Amino acid sequence: MTMASLPLDAPSADMVAVGSPQGVGHHLFSRFRIGTRLAAMMVLAALVSALLATSGIQGLAASNESLHVVYEDRMKPVRTLGQISQLMLANQHQLQIALAQTASSPARTTLHPDFAGKAVRVIETNMATIDQLWSTYAATAKGPLESALADHFAQRREQYLRDAVMPTLAALRNLDYQDTQRLATKARLLYERASPEVQALIDLQFDRAHAEYASGVQRYEQTRSLAVGALVLSMVVLGFLGVMLIRSIVRPLRQVSQVFHHIADGRLDTPIVVQGQDEICEVLADLQAMQQRLAANEEAIYRLAYYDPLTDLPNRRLLRERIQTALTASREDDQHRAVLLLDLDHFKAINDTLGHEVGDQYLVEMAHRLRQTVQAPHAVARIGGDEFVVLTDALSTDETAALAQAQALARDILSAVAQPCPLDGQMYFGSASIGICLFRNHNASIQDLLRRADAAMYQAKNAGRNAHCLFDPSMQAELEARRALETALRSAIEAGQLQLHYQAQVGATGRPVGAEVLLRWNHPVHGSVSPAQFIPIAEATGLILPIGAWVLEQACAQLKAWERHPRNRLLDLAVNVSARQFRHPDFVAQVCQTLTRAGANPARLVLELTESLVLDDLADTVCKMQALQQRGVRFALDDFGTGYSSLAQLKRLPLHHLKIDRSFVQDIVSAPSDAAIVQTIIGMAHNLGLRVIAEGVETLAQRQALLNLQCLVFQGYFFGKPLPIERFDQWLEQSPYSSFPAAANATPVAPHQREIP
Ligand code: C2E
Ligand code: MG
Ligand code: MG
Repeated sequence: MTMASLPLDAPSADMVAVGSPQGVGHHLFSRFRIGTRLAAMMVLAALVSALLATSGIQGLAASNESLHVVYEDRMKPVRTLGQISQLMLANQHQLQIALAQTASSPARTTLHPDFAGKAVRVIETNMATIDQLWSTYAATAKGPLESALADHFAQRREQYLRDAVMPTLAALRNLDYQDTQRLATKARLLYERASPEVQALIDLQFDRAHAEYASGVQRYEQTRSLAVGALVLSMVVLGFLGVMLIRSIVRPLRQVSQVFHHIADGRLDTPIVVQGQDEICEVLADLQAMQQRLAANEEAIYRLAYYDPLTDLPNRRLLRERIQTALTASREDDQHRAVLLLDLDHFKAINDTLGHEVGDQYLVEMAHRLRQTVQAPHAVARIGGDEFVVLTDALSTDETAALAQAQALARDILSAVAQPCPLDGQMYFGSASIGICLFRNHNASIQDLLRRADAAMYQAKNAGRNAHCLFDPSMQAELEARRALETALRSAIEAGQLQLHYQAQVGATGRPVGAEVLLRWNHPVHGSVSPAQFIPIAEATGLILPIGAWVLEQACAQLKAWERHPRNRLLDLAVNVSARQFRHPDFVAQVCQTLTRAGANPARLVLELTESLVLDDLADTVCKMQALQQRGVRFALDDFGTGYSSLAQLKRLPLHHLKIDRSFVQDIVSAPSDAAIVQTIIGMAHNLGLRVIAEGVETLAQRQALLNLQCLVFQGYFFGKPLPIERFDQWLEQSPYSSFPAAANATPVAPHQREIP
């Protein structure tokens, strides 16, 4: 069972459903583009304004019309009738003047002709004007009352003309004072009778005008009320529509902004429902797509960061977080928990012999089996190459019971791993080694737990593999010693605690042909620390890079120093190169630069590589070896026979020497099988055109046996131990090859077995 992937943030309570139902208005509005909505709103407002303006103008026109009627239709007759009345009065006035003039004259019976004549002219003119005015008035439309009044006045006027004006004019022309006076009185009488009728007609016009005016005012007020009402109503409707329109834009915008906030906060599961076709809905749709892509990317990033792409198991980083959680929990409850570190046995051999693809298949299959075996709530992770870690959930509070639980789990895992696995067309029977580390109420760090499990796992490996082992305190002491060494090693170069020793490599006649540089660490407290102890630590911590560079520097300087001495000029110097050093991208450049700086002859430098190193990434190895070979540097395959290299792979490597591992040399005399292996190695090396160096030659018998098997170069305590340079130089001086033991010299050497110069 895999560790459950960490869930992305769960939806929070305040999460909004953007674009979710907002009411009918929103749907209605959001069907249309915002531009269309605004334009429609403006058109509507313009229409309403136009309507209001038109109706207002019409109302004013109607009011104006009423006033015009009052002025034109009613005031004109008033003026006409007034004029008629005045003209009739003017007639009376003329008669009075004519009579008055006569009364003041001596002859009182006769009118003065001038005044009488003038009166006749004026009266005639007045009467003509009255006729004209009356005919104009008579032609105007009238109501029944006005018609009746007008008819009545017409009769009075005719009577006035007939009975008063005409006889008066005759009397005036006759200059008859008496008659004129009498008729003037009659005319006055008739005028006074007609006058109230004129006045009644005028009053009638005024009444009518007043009525017209009142109706005009009423119409004006109606128009005004209507306009104000329409204005208020249209403002309410437009306001409502405007508010709806603004809400239809602002609300979704607010929700868009909320989604942006959620995205900015890393909450990528905000539900977005897009309903509508306006611009905001388009933004929402894009936002939805963006959110989905971001969520997918985040998920991908999360998986990349926390999961192993090959097996899909949690990786080291996620495991560390889980262990941290378990450590915190273990401080609070009283239960045990366990870390089980599993390393597949001989996985490297699968990679080396069957290739990386098959190796990957095997890892995927093992991950699958682990998932099946380790049930939740326990969890499994892959932390590197062939290393897996199982973190158990809370086990028993009792240590023995908890240990039994962890061991049972380890056994299940071992048996799952041990099931046959089809690989590359054949059945592979693999196994694993497991280190178990129990913890409870612990203040240990994650690193501590993994280190302890690792130490226990190595114990299981040492116990013969396919086993599980529990971490115990003695391992803790070992771990601490290792950590102390690690700390001390960090300052070893600066403190001048590292030193190089030189171990001679000699030919068949005993003549020195070269030396191997071997690192020594003299620690003030730990004493002389073996490279077998500190080189793996330097490898694991990366300290091997500065240390290796320093060794190379010293070795090249030594080569240069030897060049100055004729006896040493042809000595080879072998330098051990570790995997991490060799894999560094700048390795080739670093070697070349060091050689150049020292001014040493590259042809005298031999780099020793181990089998596992060269096979780890064959293509890179060949490439780097060829590059250095072009500079003249040569290569030796160190500790040969302990690895898994095949002939086909060796053929691809530009090698010069094979160094037979000392484990084969050790028993070459007593164990015929080792002698056979050495013979095979030597035969194979010669077939490949390689020279053979035997390591760890401690006795004359071993040398002899090797010589018999055609091995012509030796290195070992029999010839000399690794020595500091001053003592090695002394050794070189004191050990001329001619002074080699007679027994060895006595051995005949075939011409084709001549030693390497
Ligand atoms: P190696 O390269 O195989 O070196 C040979 C080892 O065999 C040396 O051990 C040497 O002292 C030891 N030896 C030589 N002759 C005899 C003998 O007759 N009998 C026995 N029993 N042992 C003999 P040492 O010096 O302890 O080095 C161990 C390993 O540490 C080396 O194995 C090499 O892999 C590594 N090493 C040493 N120096 C360096 C270095 O400068 N860089 C790197 N990367 N590794 C180094
Ligand atoms: Mg070596
Ligand atoms: Mg070796």
